Amino acid sequence: LLVSRGIVEAEGAKAGGAKAYYVPVKRPDRIQNQRIELPVYAEEQQIMEAIAQNPVVVLSGETGSGKTTQVPQFLLEAGYGDPDSPNPGMIGITQPRRVAAVSMAHRVAEELGNYGHTVAHQVRFDTTVSDRTRVKFMTEGVLLRELAADLLLAKYSVIIADEAHERSLNTDILLGVLSRVVRLRQKLSAESPDKHRPLKLVIMSATLRVDDFVKNTRLFRVPPPVLSVQARQHPVRVHFNRRTPAPGQHVHEAIQKVAKIHRRLPDGGILVFLTGQAEIAYVCKQLRSLFPSEAERAAAAKAIAAAAAQSRAATSNALEASVEDEDLDFGDADADDFEPGSDAGSGSESEEEDEIIVGGDGDADAEARRVLLQENLRSAPAVGDDACAPLHILPLYSLLPAEQQLKVFAPPPPGSRLCVVATNVAETSITIPGIRYVVDAGLVKEKKYDAQTQVQSFEVGWTSQASASQRMGRAGRTGPGHCYRLFSSAVFNDQFARFSEPEVLRMPIEGVVLQMKAMNLDNVVNFPFPTPPPRDVLEKAERLLTWLGALDDKGRATALGRLMSAFPVAPRFAKMLIVGQQHGCLPYVIAVVAALSVGDPFVKEFHLGEDGAGSDSDNDNDADADAAGAEQPVSNAALTAKEQRRARRRKYWDAQAKLAGAEPTSDLLKWLSAVGTFEYAGGTDAACSEYFVRPKAMGEIRKLRGQLTNIVQLYCPGVDVAMDPRMAPPTRVQQSVLRQIILAGFMDQVAVRGDIAGYHDPDEEEAAARRRGLHAVPYMTMWSDEPVFIHPESVIYIAARSSGSMPQAVVFGELQRTTRLWAKAVTVTSPRWLATIGRALCTFGSPLTYPLPKYNDARDEMTCYVEPRFGPRSW
Ligand code: ADP
Ligand code: MG
Repeated sequence: LLVSRGIVEAEGAKAGGAKAYYVPVKRPDRIQNQRIELPVYAEEQQIMEAIAQNPVVVLSGETGSGKTTQVPQFLLEAGYGDPDSPNPGMIGITQPRRVAAVSMAHRVAEELGNYGHTVAHQVRFDTTVSDRTRVKFMTEGVLLRELAADLLLAKYSVIIADEAHERSLNTDILLGVLSRVVRLRQKLSAESPDKHRPLKLVIMSATLRVDDFVKNTRLFRVPPPVLSVQARQHPVRVHFNRRTPAPGQHVHEAIQKVAKIHRRLPDGGILVFLTGQAEIAYVCKQLRSLFPSEAERAAAAKAIAAAAAQSRAATSNALEASVEDEDLDFGDADADDFEPGSDAGSGSESEEEDEIIVGGDGDADAEARRVLLQENLRSAPAVGDDACAPLHILPLYSLLPAEQQLKVFAPPPPGSRLCVVATNVAETSITIPGIRYVVDAGLVKEKKYDAQTQVQSFEVGWTSQASASQRMGRAGRTGPGHCYRLFSSAVFNDQFARFSEPEVLRMPIEGVVLQMKAMNLDNVVNFPFPTPPPRDVLEKAERLLTWLGALDDKGRATALGRLMSAFPVAPRFAKMLIVGQQHGCLPYVIAVVAALSVGDPFVKEFHLGEDGAGSDSDNDNDADADAAGAEQPVSNAALTAKEQRRARRRKYWDAQAKLAGAEPTSDLLKWLSAVGTFEYAGGTDAACSEYFVRPKAMGEIRKLRGQLTNIVQLYCPGVDVAMDPRMAPPTRVQQSVLRQIILAGFMDQVAVRGDIAGYHDPDEEEAAARRRGLHAVPYMTMWSDEPVFIHPESVIYIAARSSGSMPQAVVFGELQRTTRLWAKAVTVTSPRWLATIGRALCTFGSPLTYPLPKYNDARDEMTCYVEPRFGPRSW
C-alpha cells in the first residue's frame, strides 16, 4: 500500500484509541475464500484507519482489486450504518452506471451473508431501499436529487463516490457539493457533537490520475491522502492490427478474431469491446451461428428431424411463416439485419503487427512471457469447428435486464469457453472473472454536445489511450493474457487522445445548474468543479433557465424554478408539466413528456425488418451511450426479402399517416396518438407491431406516465389527475393548447422560415423547395446562423404536401446533424403564440397555493402564468 501523505501515524493513534465497533457478519466459506484473494482485502486496516483519520480519502486501485465490493463491507463491519453505533447513518455508494449500481448491490448482498438484507440499490424508477438498509448503492443522479432535499445528507455517515476516474458530469457536481457538505458536517459536529456526526467521503478511482481531485485546493483545502492498492497484474501481450479496418468493418474483424482465438488458442475467456447494443446483438448472433452451444445444436438437430418428418410443401410453408414472424418481432433484443458495410472486405484479414508485452511483475513472469511469445495465432494450426469446445456467448450493455447482466459472473457451462461481448461498461465498472483474451475495436459511442448550436448527438469515435489500456488490463487479471487491438499502432499513437475528456466539458448542463440553484448553490460560475466548465457554457444554461422562468434577474431560483427542480425531469419538461395544468391537458402533457424522455418510440424506417434495437434512450446519465441508433446500411438481401420489406414500408407509412391525423401539426401529437392507440389496443406486442412502435419504449412510457402522474400529484396539491393508461384523443382545442405548452417548454428551440427572419425570399424558396421536394425549405434558429431543415420523417410534410406550403414557425425537440442540421420532433407553432408566451402575462405564485389558471374554453389559447424574458433576434 502506498501512502502518499501523513497517514502513517494513524496506526499509533489507533492503538491508544477506543475499541473499534464491530458488526458480526457471517459469510459463506466460498465467498470468504474469494475475498481473501482480493488485493483490497489485505489493506482493510490501512483503509479504515485512513477513513477514520481523514474527512476525505482517495482510494485508487486496478479494476478488479475489490474496491467496490469490499470497502462498503469494511465500513459496515466497523459499524457504519448500524443504528446503535456512533455512525448510524447509511453507507452510500454512487455509481455512474445503473448496471453497476444494481449488480454490485446484488453481489455485496450475497457476500454479506447474514447481513445481506441490509444492502439495497436505488436507481431511477427502481429501488429496494427499506428501513433496514445500511448499504445503499445508487446512481449519482439519485444522490444529487437527495441533496436538493437535504443538503446535509443527514441520512448518511459515509459516501463512497465510485468510478471517479470516469469523470461523469454527475461525479464532478457531486464531488463539488460533497466537498462542501463534508466541511459543513465537520463544523456542525464540532459545535454540537450530540446532534451531528461528521460525513466521510471516499473517492474511488481505477486510475492514479486523481490530480483534479487532490491538487485542486478550491475543491479540498487540505489535499486528501491517496491510498493506492497494488493489484497483481500479469503480463499481457498486445497485438495491433497492421491495417485499421474501414469504418463499420470492425464488427467483422471482431467476429473473425474471436473465431480464431476460439479455434486455435488455449482455454480462457474472451472479452470483446464494441460500441453499442445493435452491434453487440449482431456479433452475438453471428458467433452463435458459428459456434452453437450444446443446447442449440441439439435444438437444431431436433428441428431438422421434425422438418424431415413433414411433407415438403408443409415444410416450406412453415419455414416461410417462421421467417415472417421473426421479421415482425422487432422488439426482440437481437438485431437481425445488422449488416456492417458490404461483405466484400470480410474475407480479407488484417495481419498483425509486431507484438509488445505490457505489464507483469518482473522475473516471476519470465516463464509467462515465454509462453505468451509461443502462443501465436498465425503459427497455430487451424482446428475444425466440430472439434471446438462450445462457446458460451453473452452480451453485456447498460440496457440489458439485470438478471441477464448477472450471467457474466457465473462460470460458463463445463467444457465451454466464455465469450462476453460488451460496451465499455466492462472497462472498469464490472470485472468479469476468467478473461484471458481481449478483443478491442478501440471505439466508443459517446454523447457529444455542441454548446453553440445546442446539438446533441451520439458519435462513435476512437476511445482514449488510457481506456484502451484499461481494456487491455482485463486480460491480465487471472493470468498472462492477450489483447488483440483491431487497429494499427500508428492510429493508436496519432489519433487516440491520451485521456478521455471529462463529461462536464461535453454536456448541456442546465438541469444540473437548476439543481444547484435549488440547493442555493447560486454562484455556479464559481462552483468548485474538479474541472470547471467554460464560463460561457454556464452562463448560457443560466440564460435558458431564466427564459423558462426558473431563475430571477439575480440568477436565483424562483418559486417556479424550485418547483421545476423537484421534478426529476429536464427543466423544460418540468415547466411543461407545470403549465400543462389547464384545459384538461395534463394527462396528455404527461404522456408527451414521458415520450420525449424515452425518445422516439417508432421503429426507424430504415430498421424495418430489424428490431429497432439501439434507439432506446437511457435517461440516467448512463455513459454507456446505447441510446444512439446506429444508422445501418440497407441490406442487399434476396429479392423476396426486398419485396417483403417494401410491403412493410408501405404499411409503415400508412400507420404513420393514420396516427398523424387529418391535419397533422406535430410529431409529438403523433407520438401521443401512438401511445393512446397502443393503450386502447390493449398494450400488447401485437399492437406494437401494428403501429411500428417498440414494445420496450411503450413499456417505459407507460411506467414514466405513472411516475410523472404521482409526481404532479405530490408537488401540485389540488391538481386532480389520475393515471389511466387509456385516454380519449385530445379535442381540437386541447391539441392547440398542447402545442402552446410544448412551445412554453421549448421556446428557445423555435425555428422560423428563413424569409421571416429576413434572410431569404419566401416565394423563390418555396418554388425551389417544391422542385426538389419540400425538404429544402431552410429555417433559422436563434442559436446560430446555420439553417436547419425539418427532418424528412416529420408529419409536417404530410400536411405540406397537400397545402403546398411549409409552416412559418416550428418548435423542435432536438437537432441532429447528418448531411444537414435536421430539426426533429417538430411542432407547428404560430408567431402570435410566440408573442404571447414570450411576454409577461402573469406572475407565478407560491407553488403550494397558486390558483389553477382561469381559462376560457371558447378561446384556444393557453393561459400564460409564467413570465419568460425572451426576445428572439428577428421578431
Ligand atoms: P473493483 O471495484 O476494484 O474494480 P470489484 O469489487 O468490483 O473490484 O470486484 C472484485 C472481484 O469481485 C472481482 O474479481 C470480480 O470478478 C468479483 N465480482 C464482482 N461482482 C461479482 C459477482 N456478481 N459475481 C461473482 N464475482 C463478482
Ligand atoms: Mg469498482
